[in-house]
Amino acid sequence: MSTSTKTAKLKKPAAQPSSAPSSAVLGTYARQDVVFERGEGSWLTTTTGERYLDFASGIAVNLLGHAHPKLIKALTDQANQLWHTSNLYRVAGQERLAERLVAATFADRVFFCNSGAEACEGAIKTARRFHHAAGRPNKKRIITFKGAFHGRTLATIAAAGNEKYMEGFGPDMPGFDVLPFGDIEAVTKTIGDETAAIMVEPIQGEGGIRALSVQQLKALRELCDKHGLLLILDEVQCGLGRTGKLFAHEWAGITPDIMAVAKGLGGGFPVGAFLTTEEVGKPMVPGTHGSTFGGNPLAMAVGNAVMEIVLEPGFLEAVQQKGLRFKQELARIKDENPGVVEEVRGLGLLLGLRLKPPAADLVKACTAEHLLAASASDNVLRVLPPLNVSDEDLAEGAKRLSRALKRLA
Ligand SMILES: *Cc1c(COP(=O)(O)O)cnc(C)c1O
Repeated sequence: MSTSTKTAKLKKPAAQPSSAPSSAVLGTYARQDVVFERGEGSWLTTTTGERYLDFASGIAVNLLGHAHPKLIKALTDQANQLWHTSNLYRVAGQERLAERLVAATFADRVFFCNSGAEACEGAIKTARRFHHAAGRPNKKRIITFKGAFHGRTLATIAAAGNEKYMEGFGPDMPGFDVLPFGDIEAVTKTIGDETAAIMVEPIQGEGGIRALSVQQLKALRELCDKHGLLLILDEVQCGLGRTGKLFAHEWAGITPDIMAVAKGLGGGFPVGAFLTTEEVGKPMVPGTHGSTFGGNPLAMAVGNAVMEIVLEPGFLEAVQQKGLRFKQELARIKDENPGVVEEVRGLGLLLGLRLKPPAADLVKACTAEHLLAASASDNVLRVLPPLNVSDEDLAEGAKRLSRALKRLA
């Protein structure tokens, strides 16, 4: 680009669909016009010294709030020792975190990456490779569900089948049969010779805190067993203790063959992973998959610290109790705002309010009350406090949410 073009461009910045002033950052987000400088527990402080109660938790990422002393220590200790070596060599932190995840789940093997989308992509590749290695190369298609969110890569947008996220990015990646969420009859009808797997979030996060019932999850497991398909669960948002169990599928008493995790696993440091059984993971031999940054020592140090805390005796029970009490508070708030709040949804501290007025308006009203929450599809406000939130902060959050709803009225 010539200097003159650049100067001309700088004089006239492109309008961005956002309340925030335009910047050199590509305008892919409709950001709120606020910059945070510091965080502590459930609280964030802006560059101008204003405090916000953070029940967005970086979209279910800051699992243990901000600046948790154990996470800071794990990261800084590792930072003083070694940052990166690549996967040309063994990485002690990976082996430790993989052992922890394996001990706590259905899985026998773990692959580390850096994000949820990569975890889902790895899960899809592993499912296809499994059938390929077993002499069933025709089995490539994956059944997925409307309203799902599996990330923003070309495969994961095709998997979710959300037109809004696919428009203009074609050709669309083939291989996915996107069915109505939880429609077991449609799944039964769609399963064919080419079907390799069913991929689903036990509770849709971006889709609006929409949960599969225990019966639906069991039915999917049974269909997979009956037809020799793999069940891939995307627990990127609902996993890691968010629902009060380590993973949401535990509520249904079933296990997947492959599971994608990310978000909360690094407590704010980018970490993703997919977990698999020995049998299913076997064809993923050297050369089949990889990631330069995946399982980096810094990420593993934080991931190990997060797992240590989440697996402490009583931690998940406390999440269940806090979740129950807070959901009752939300139900009371719903009753106080008839015709505004239509439904309270979710489990543990993965909660949502389905609204009559636009959810985006309530997000803004919450921000005005210095409470952070995230919107989701299906006109839902997501309320995602850190799992170690205090009772006092939960009560404060409920008060602020009540006041925000009054602003809407
Ligand atoms: C956020 C999310 C993803 C994508 O994660 P990224 O880290 O943004 O790639 C995938 N699946 C689910 C269920 C998610 O909530």
